[in-house]
Amino acid sequence: MNIQNVMVIGAGQMGAGIALVCARSGYHVYLFDTSNEAKQRGYDYIERILEKDVSKDKMSETDKNEALNRITLAHTIEEVANCDLAIEAVVENMEVKTSVFQELDKHAPSHAILASNTSSLPITEIAAETKRPEQVIGMHFMNPVPIMKLVEIIRGLETSDETYQLISEMSESLGKSTVEVRDFPGFAANRILMPMINEAVYTVFEGVASPQDVDQVMKLGMNHPMGPLQLADFIGLDTCLYIMEVLHEGFGDSKYRPCPLLRQYVKAGRLGKKVGRGFYTYD
Ligand code: NAD
Repeated sequence: MNIQNVMVIGAGQMGAGIALVCARSGYHVYLFDTSNEAKQRGYDYIERILEKDVSKDKMSETDKNEALNRITLAHTIEEVANCDLAIEAVVENMEVKTSVFQELDKHAPSHAILASNTSSLPITEIAAETKRPEQVIGMHFMNPVPIMKLVEIIRGLETSDETYQLISEMSESLGKSTVEVRDFPGFAANRILMPMINEAVYTVFEGVASPQDVDQVMKLGMNHPMGPLQLADFIGLDTCLYIMEVLHEGFGDSKYRPCPLLRQYVKAGRLGKKVGRGFYTYD
């Protein structure tokens, strides 16, 4: 199978980034979101990044226009009928994701691979919602997608070797490096990262240090390029909370309980950079 047409479902910060790197690497992209506003915002982001590439001489004006021409804003998810691969990047919520996968399974051609960009939810369970579990796989891009080099590839229980091979090669064609991980809650990346972020939130919650000082400790003391609370703001505090809940439920271990302050911020709508306010405020 030759992957040419890719549908990206969800045009938020991850979906728009995935659509961008696919279009830049020559794939035709159908970008779909239930919110027309989000879809347009996603497209505007892609245009902005490509324009930046041109102004930095990383790309010609012609290549930019060709990449933009390879993006179609899909009106319905049914347009996946034209695609060889679907990459789902909707909210980190099992119910929403399973309903998206049922729709994709119904409308995608039988050869198509269905991938999820989930940060933590079980691929095996998502795959079980379809009639093609051997063609379902986790394709976990990192944020921001155009910059971060890694794709964590997660094989569900039934994922075939052929599906794995195609997705691994496709990820490399996007200029990414891949690692293969088993289908366990949080996979590898977020099993390690999220408890650290959650502990940073506890450090603020318990009055040990301010958010600025917590981040300063990790930047200057541990040589992290970004503090954990700023990183949490960039990821989205709602996404961080969902992932902690998946770890907590998946392992049944109290060490993964989400910090009450994280929950309170999410309830207050302080979701991080995407809404202008989280641990910090943004323009
Ligand atoms: P986001 O909130 O920025 O975007 C989610 C988008 O999904 C929204 O535009 C929303 O309108 C759309 N959506 C919701 N339900 C939909 C549906 N049924 N059909 C189509 N579109 C729908 O979220 P995000 O940060 O882009 O995260 C998306 C996924 O990527 C999540 O699974 C998340 O865990 C994963 N992820 C996030 C990060 C990160 O740093 N934010 C990193 C890696 C993976």
